[in-house]
Amino acid sequence: MTIAASAQDASVGYPLSPKTRQFLAQACLGHLIDGKFVPSANGATMPVVDPNTGAEFARVAQGSPAEVELAVGAARRAFEDGRWRHLHPNKKEAVLRRLGALLEDNRDVLMDLDMLDGGIIRSQTPFFVQFGIDVTNYYAGWPTKIEGRMSPTGPDVVVQQVREPLGVCAVIMPWNAPSAVPLGVVAPIACGNSIILKPAEQTPLTAIFFGGLCEQAGLPAGVINIVHGLGGTVGAALVEHREVDAISFTGSVETGRGIQAAAAKQLKRVSLELGGKSPQIVFADADLDAAANAAAWAVWGHSGQICTAGSRVLVNRAIHDEFVARMVDASRALTIGSCFDAETCIGPVISQKQLDQVTRYVELGKAEGAHLALGGARHGEKGFFFEPTIFTAVSNRMKIAQEEIFGPVMAVIPFDTDEEAYAIANDTTFGLAAGVWTRDLGRAHRASQRLKVGTVWINTYQLNETSVPYGGVKQSGFGRSLGAVSIEEFTQVKSVWINAA
Ligand code: ADP
Repeated sequence: MTIAASAQDASVGYPLSPKTRQFLAQACLGHLIDGKFVPSANGATMPVVDPNTGAEFARVAQGSPAEVELAVGAARRAFEDGRWRHLHPNKKEAVLRRLGALLEDNRDVLMDLDMLDGGIIRSQTPFFVQFGIDVTNYYAGWPTKIEGRMSPTGPDVVVQQVREPLGVCAVIMPWNAPSAVPLGVVAPIACGNSIILKPAEQTPLTAIFFGGLCEQAGLPAGVINIVHGLGGTVGAALVEHREVDAISFTGSVETGRGIQAAAAKQLKRVSLELGGKSPQIVFADADLDAAANAAAWAVWGHSGQICTAGSRVLVNRAIHDEFVARMVDASRALTIGSCFDAETCIGPVISQKQLDQVTRYVELGKAEGAHLALGGARHGEKGFFFEPTIFTAVSNRMKIAQEEIFGPVMAVIPFDTDEEAYAIANDTTFGLAAGVWTRDLGRAHRASQRLKVGTVWINTYQLNETSVPYGGVKQSGFGRSLGAVSIEEFTQVKSVWINAA
């Protein structure tokens, strides 16, 4: 399996780092199974498409249940013989710290792959890549800190609560933040689990590169395995496999629902990080200068393809027209273009399918009677670009206010009273995040109590930290990533009774 000649041509014009070119030119962009990169047994491959041009630039192995079988077997053996989970915690930490250092050393490759494979613009890639490095370094420090407890009992028994890894975990990831691979995999590994990572079929490259760094860092074979392929085959086979103990899934609500139902057959532990339709409430007392720009960027960032995109902007009617005018002004002249251009503000969406979905929702918004205040059309003919789009006069019952679009489309909804704002904000099946813009401290506190979401940002949006738990309520899923709580997600407690009489 070699990178197609057209592939080299497609990326030849980009200012890629020599290390990226070397990575792309390697003979086998394959699965990682038991410490080795391998092609599919049946030789199948699938295309990797550059969202900036729409052109295929590489092919990677396309797996089948046969590769899932091999990967799960390798993960199970690695878990049972204790080569990783029983390694001294200091040694586990040393491996993970080396991984963090290798990510640092290869920052340029990770940034290139984000632009080429993930459609993330140059000015945003340092943030995504740095976050992956930070997450790795954060969890690298955990193996020496995962402690058990002693239960309070009478003097005749001693009861230890031992915190143990879950076993073999499948980590199924989406395409919207390829360099955030560490976010999905380092916590379960730090806890002593073995994993099988299934990257999204649209963005397989960063996972392959990351897998190579894990091997270089000295992670024992079989602790991380990677199988590429389609969700309906490789993903489904992982979810159904009897030797997979737990599933960590990030993706769409519909797929998450199916995964929970399939996992229920074997009562597997599942954590789901799903979509959102997050409200940003702009009260009349907000600092409008700060809020207008930030509220717009909360939707334009990564062309709206972020789970926490603040795509419903609820604005107090007293400031509505002025606020909309400021957002339109801040957004009208943004440069749309290739991720590789330093001036680009708005990059492509990931695929033709995603572009079609955004187009469909914009047409739907018009048909539902919303007013198009900005954008509304595809940009250019090559690649998958869409203009930043603002709909006003949106009612919260419209589909463009209820369904996740995952594109640069904002729905502005007016409100009169605070109570009405909370009611609209909570009138959704989702509950991932919310933003509140106000100068009134009391109002900020009241709002944070009333909003049914996993994260509230006040006078800011989309900040994150490795130590701060992240996840949703309602149909945005359950389970939390980041922070100490993720260690609890990937471990379980065993009670050990010792007769001391
Ligand atoms: P999207 O529709 O935006 O591609 P998905 O939620 O379908 O989002 O995909 C997220 C991840 O889930 C991807 O890695 C995808 O391959 C995987 N996936 C899709 N369908 C299934 C499934 N039935 N079982 C397991 N994984 C799946």
